[in-house]
Amino acid sequence: MTSSPGPEAGPRYLSTVGGPTLRGGAEVTSRATAADLDEVRQRARRHARALLAADRGAVLADLLPDRWQQILGSLDLPAPLVQAEVTEVRAGAGAFVETRLRCVGGGADTREVRLRWVAYEGSWRVREARNVPARLPEPVFLAEEYPRVEAEHWEAMNRGELRVQRCVTCQTWIWGPRHLCPSCRGFELVFQPVAAEGFVYSWTRTVQPFEASMVGRVPFVVALVELPHAGDVRVAALLEPTPGEADPAIGQAVDGVFVSYGDQDRRILRWRLRDRADEARTEGDDRAH
Ligand SMILES: [Zn+2]
Repeated sequence: MTSSPGPEAGPRYLSTVGGPTLRGGAEVTSRATAADLDEVRQRARRHARALLAADRGAVLADLLPDRWQQILGSLDLPAPLVQAEVTEVRAGAGAFVETRLRCVGGGADTREVRLRWVAYEGSWRVREARNVPARLPEPVFLAEEYPRVEAEHWEAMNRGELRVQRCVTCQTWIWGPRHLCPSCRGFELVFQPVAAEGFVYSWTRTVQPFEASMVGRVPFVVALVELPHAGDVRVAALLEPTPGEADPAIGQAVDGVFVSYGDQDRRILRWRLRDRADEARTEGDDRAH
């Protein structure tokens, strides 16, 4: 049996814990040293030059090999690029070093990009990239296209109200909307207003832009939230205001917020993690009563 290598030997792949940087709002301490920052600064400047020169080989060499597609497909950069400049290098959470890149296209079209670098096999590579400020994908359907069985739900949402379907006969809460009660097969179904709050049942982070409207808007997190005021049915929505960054705990409390999108007449539900400290306070208040 061979002895295992010491911490200095072997590939320097520091990041074993993916991208999450926030857990309950607290940032993880950085492990990057001043020498790391210098190294990444050089690397990032070279990367900016490679982008400007459209040197595909050099651009790819800076990305983690298993992330090429994802990173190239995610960023919304001006084309053609006429200027690319490193504006910031800082120690990120955990093993990351974060750099900001200001990219200018023709007609002064300027976009800012955040790159997260990790040490990998003796050098630094980009593991995550995203446009800043971070923006979430928006619904692409139009009001005229609401499926008939769901229309009342979406129309209520535009008024800033969460309505969930319920069976008049057996009182079962139903989600998503149906034509027939799955419990008693009753036809009489209504939409009742429900407090937009609940608990994270599950969640997933999307890092790949699966359609054109998602380019420049990844990563993002979708949370499946259990509604205690509606028979624990589960409603999925994007998480904000830390799109893509949040690392929710299962069971963590969330509040619904209704945000405008598109032509501003429409609103969509998003979940917002309730601060852990707030939760603790609320529990304390409950006990005091
Ligand atoms: Zn029923």
